[in-house]
Amino acid sequence: MSGASARPSVAVVGGGIIGLSIAWRLARGGARVELFERGALAGEASHVAAGMLAPVSEADPAEPELLALGLESAERWASFAAELETDSDIRPQSLLDRTGTLLIARDADEGRWLEREADLRRAAGLECALLTPREARRLEPDLAPGLRGALHVPVDHAVDPRQVAVALAVAARGNGALLHDHAGPIEATDDPRLAGFDRIVIASGAWPVTGVAPAAATHPVKGQLLILRDPEHAQREEPIARHVLRAQTVYCVPRGDGRYVIGATMEHRGEDRTVTAWAVHDLLRELFEILPAAREFVLDEALAGLRPATTSGDPLIGPVPGDPAGDAARVLYAVGHYRGGVLLAPATADRIAALVLG
Ligand SMILES: Cc1cc2nc3c(=O)[nH]c(=O)nc-3n(C[C@H](O)[C@H](O)[C@H](O)COP(=O)(O)OP(=O)(O)OC[C@H]3O[C@@H](n4cnc5c(N)ncnc54)[C@H](O)[C@@H]3O)c2cc1C
Repeated sequence: MSGASARPSVAVVGGGIIGLSIAWRLARGGARVELFERGALAGEASHVAAGMLAPVSEADPAEPELLALGLESAERWASFAAELETDSDIRPQSLLDRTGTLLIARDADEGRWLEREADLRRAAGLECALLTPREARRLEPDLAPGLRGALHVPVDHAVDPRQVAVALAVAARGNGALLHDHAGPIEATDDPRLAGFDRIVIASGAWPVTGVAPAAATHPVKGQLLILRDPEHAQREEPIARHVLRAQTVYCVPRGDGRYVIGATMEHRGEDRTVTAWAVHDLLRELFEILPAAREFVLDEALAGLRPATTSGDPLIGPVPGDPAGDAARVLYAVGHYRGGVLLAPATADRIAALVLG
């Protein structure tokens, strides 16, 4: 065991985008880091995530703390991605796709919904602009002709979480972290493999480690999602869509390479990761209503992931509330990122690094 003041030793439990981000930032900051992942690195929710960085599109002014954390993390993404590109040597494509987002209204009801959403965001000082159908189609010519309008959110971008996870693993290892994948589950915080570490960070997603306090308990919320591919992408002068497109019940995230991620359902079904016929049907029907050209796309993947949710709905980043040791607690948490773990990875890793490294 190393002295806490010299070079802290840290065990990270869970190798999703949250655990990997923490391992990289801690190792980069000088900590001795070992990460324990029961299966494949980033093989769970982080493998399925669409990768939207959407604090403004998803803003809920009734949740000001979560909104502030999302905005902070979105702003951090540019430098986080640039440092990650350097540390992982992943080039030439930038990890951050500066796409911007269009929220789409399909009919008059949704048009009124969009106006309310615009008012809420403007009142909170968030950047967005209502567009007429003509203006929206100037930005995205392949949008369906009958749409009622759009809300342009220029600051909401996207990343490919799979590419980010690969880069994080390379960068963490390059900074000296040991990543143990296929290590089997860490059963509890007193698991013998964690003995001797100065600090333990639990980043186990939707699977609470035995013995954690109720505030750190998580449960899975299933999301089904499709990955489509435009077979004509290489021949096109312009891709079918460049912005993230969001309607009330479906979104479409262009990966920039001809793939489009279409999501997602929200279901409370425990550990179920099956893909159902109704979900595929509904997602495609709703997508075709906003982007009819997608009918010719190829279906590459249909998959389901488990979002990690806490009972409060908020992520827990740091010591469990009420821990008498406060910020000096040996066990820290980075769990419950629910629908926003990709967005919140930089801010989460920064907070944990600040607690461990000072
Ligand atoms: C359909 C869908 C779409 C999404 N879209 C977005 C999006 O656009 N933007 C966004 O920001 N977020 C999105 N999310 C949410 C995002 O995927 C999650 O918030 C994020 O991936 C959580 O990361 P994590 O590392 O906490 O969890 P995970 O990626 O699930 O990783 C947890 C890891 O811990 C491991 N583990 C669990 N228990 C143990 C144990 N006892 N011992 C060792 N290892 C253990 C697991 O095997 C797993 O690899 C989406 C999620 C879904 C399902």
